[in-house]
Amino acid sequence: MDKDTPVSVFWFRRDLRLTDNAGLYHALKSGNPVLPFFIFDKEILDELEDEDDARVSFIYKAIEEVNKECQKHHSSLLVVYDKPDHAWKKLISQYNIAAVYTNHDYEPYAKERDVAIKSLLAKHGIDFKTYKDQVILEKNEVLKDDGKPYTVYTPYKNKWYQKLKPFYLKAYPNEKYFKNLLKFEAPAMPTLTEMGFVKSTITYLGKEYDKVIADYAKNRDFPAVTGTSHVGVHLRFGTVSIRRCARDAYEADEKTWLNELIWREFYMMILYHFPQTMDHAFRPEYDRIKWINDEAQFEDWCKGETGFPLVDAGMRELNATGYMHNRVRMVVASFLSKDLLIDWRWGERYFARKLLDYEMASNVGGWQWAAGSGTDAAPYFRIFNPDSQLKKFDPKLEYVKKWVPEYADFSKYPKPIIDHSFARERCLKAFKAALSK
Ligand code: FAD
Repeated sequence: MDKDTPVSVFWFRRDLRLTDNAGLYHALKSGNPVLPFFIFDKEILDELEDEDDARVSFIYKAIEEVNKECQKHHSSLLVVYDKPDHAWKKLISQYNIAAVYTNHDYEPYAKERDVAIKSLLAKHGIDFKTYKDQVILEKNEVLKDDGKPYTVYTPYKNKWYQKLKPFYLKAYPNEKYFKNLLKFEAPAMPTLTEMGFVKSTITYLGKEYDKVIADYAKNRDFPAVTGTSHVGVHLRFGTVSIRRCARDAYEADEKTWLNELIWREFYMMILYHFPQTMDHAFRPEYDRIKWINDEAQFEDWCKGETGFPLVDAGMRELNATGYMHNRVRMVVASFLSKDLLIDWRWGERYFARKLLDYEMASNVGGWQWAAGSGTDAAPYFRIFNPDSQLKKFDPKLEYVKKWVPEYADFSKYPKPIIDHSFARERCLKAFKAALSK
């Protein structure tokens, strides 16, 4: 290809698919051939602690698949390992870029990065066009009647349903325009080893959630059964389109599952409007709590050696698979922040390191919900009792026996690191002291 031929660039981020991708659809219709581009972002990768990071392996596989799909149309995905600013400067020097297309990303780092890249491109006279893709309703599309963002889920959800229009659920017909992908052969992708990672042995479920969602309302609270979709990681990196999930749920009238997808959008909207909540309590008075932050107890919690079987099973599931059942996420989060009085931010960071479906908005939202400091929070005096939760949600101990096999032999299983009734009283006192100031 002649280097002077104008091209549109589509920048993949957390939308790793060619089909039903909003920004890519607009790029393909731009009139210029489309160069597909992906940056393994050094700013992000250099911060990761583990060389065996399942998310990096997941992304790697997903972009290999995107590349294979591109090759079917005599194109390829250009992949670089770099800082975004430098990667873009290089690309601008190599191609005659008419415009850059991408999808909105709402996390604080992503927002800053995009402002910087937009201004860099503007200096070269290049438009930066971004689209809504990872949610059905975004930013200011669901507001209270007074124009302010919602801070409570149920009224948000009700307004979300009012605002929903059938065409929001329609797939973008990208496949009609694949002929507009730039025909070229990209250089070899950087390898995982070159980027300082190894191929993870952690596996995950695919995107075939239809059977699960049919019985979702009945099964979703029981960690021993596969009663939830496991689609989180696919939504996180865009290997499935949110429009497909929401449409499937809507058409099958699976409101319970659709309501969970709306929780995801609620938390994304919260983080968008209140970015300070990524590391500050949504209700500032909760930042006055005097956490105990016992490091040895934190270690026990991380390893799943607290002597509370449901907590330990959850943490071991997380460590082994990068996944933890939602009910158990709530129990372990409550246990850390309330029973152990360890700052919810420690737990949030640990989940961020381990969860394959890690999503800042939902993770911060989930942790603040458990600690009582968030939006729509259960009052702080509602403290989960890990043993009652076990009796209710894993009555036959199937989940516990899977992840904590030594539980069957009491002599091998650790004694509880704390007495729950004592911990409950201590928590109530600490929270009351902080909140009554
Ligand atoms: P399903 O139950 O099948 O739900 C389908 C999808 O709906 C999920 O994949 C997710 O995208 C969304 N969803 C479901 N429940 C919630 C929820 N409560 N809040 C927001 N979105 C939801 N979810 C994440 O995606 N990333 C996180 O980092 C994350 N951290 C959490 C931390 C804590 C302390 C808690 C209590 C919850 C957290 N969640 C997080 C929410 C929830 O636990 C997971 O989304 C869910 O367990 C993922 O499993 P699934 O894909 O089988 O979900």
